[in-house]
Amino acid sequence: MSDTTEKLECLIIGSGPAGYTAAIYAARADMKPVLYTGMEPGGQLTTTTEVDNFPGYPEGIDGPTMMLQLQQQAERFGTEVRIGMATAVEFTKEVGGYHQITIDDSKVIQAKTVIISTGASAKYLGLPSEEKLKGGGVSACAVCDGFFYRGQEVAIVGAGDTAAEEATYLAKICSKVTMLVRRDEMRASKAMQHRVNNTPNIEVLYNTEVEEVLGENVVEGIRIINNQTGEKKEIQVTGLFIAIGHKPNTDIFKGQLDMDDTGYLITKPGSTHTNIPGVFAAGDVQDSQYRQAVTAAGTGCMAALDAERYLSSLS
Ligand code: NDP
Repeated sequence: MSDTTEKLECLIIGSGPAGYTAAIYAARADMKPVLYTGMEPGGQLTTTTEVDNFPGYPEGIDGPTMMLQLQQQAERFGTEVRIGMATAVEFTKEVGGYHQITIDDSKVIQAKTVIISTGASAKYLGLPSEEKLKGGGVSACAVCDGFFYRGQEVAIVGAGDTAAEEATYLAKICSKVTMLVRRDEMRASKAMQHRVNNTPNIEVLYNTEVEEVLGENVVEGIRIINNQTGEKKEIQVTGLFIAIGHKPNTDIFKGQLDMDDTGYLITKPGSTHTNIPGVFAAGDVQDSQYRQAVTAAGTGCMAALDAERYLSSLS
């Protein structure tokens, strides 16, 4: 229940590169943004070790440091960053109206513009050994982490377009890629399958699942099982990439914002506008394709500019 209500020009939900970039732009445009961090302050990048592909860091930077610096940059221009989680929303269709957002089931905020940058979460297999070795050889992002396995043998789990694309990406860097497909066929498009099958250093094992990730502090191998024959074997790899899909963090917006079958928010092409006036979406929450920190930051900038134009059009 509500214990306080606060009125804002601009509320930003989520603290990944999209949210903080939106905050930098919104604060510099004097929109006095308040940003709520969500459950994982800093977002997915805080689970990454080294970020080597964000422009402007010639030596690379570790994910948590980069997110702290983005936060400090947003604060420098007056963004108020608060720990808290949006737990319910009530969007108005009235142009210029106040949207109502509940934080942590108690505090109610009314905001003329809302920038949603709640991100997406990579799905994992759910094995305790996988959890233990996240950041120690288990990764959900080949583009982010593949480089660290140059010349080494790795495995990738999944059979969709992402897994197929990441397997061919890894094959260029690593000496061998073993792709583990749980059924007797892939879900990926025929064109992607063709690429996988024509890459000599990718071996595809069908009907195969990971039973355990081996190693104490770093991945030393995996124990796999053929789910048809029950046959188990261990293979030596130094990296295990999980590419079994992402889940956008959009549960609280269901029924109010247009989304696709997987739950990604739909924005008007070439903009960050959702179907509700004054509500904008940026970053992975609206992007199932690119999912990079730099593309998230780009759409965060767009969202702040779209929000600023929307506010200006009201006066
Ligand atoms: P998908 O949902 O398409 O595929 C997920 C894959 O992971 C499936 O093959 C699924 O197996 C497998 N999987 C799920 N859970 C497990 C598990 N516990 N153990 C083993 N395997 C598991 O996700 P993607 O990320 O691949 O793609 C998302 C969307 O983005 C798709 O629409 C895709 O087409 C699109 N995309 C397009 C690209 C392009 O056009 N270049 C590139 C990347 C993505 P199963 O098949 O058995 O269910």
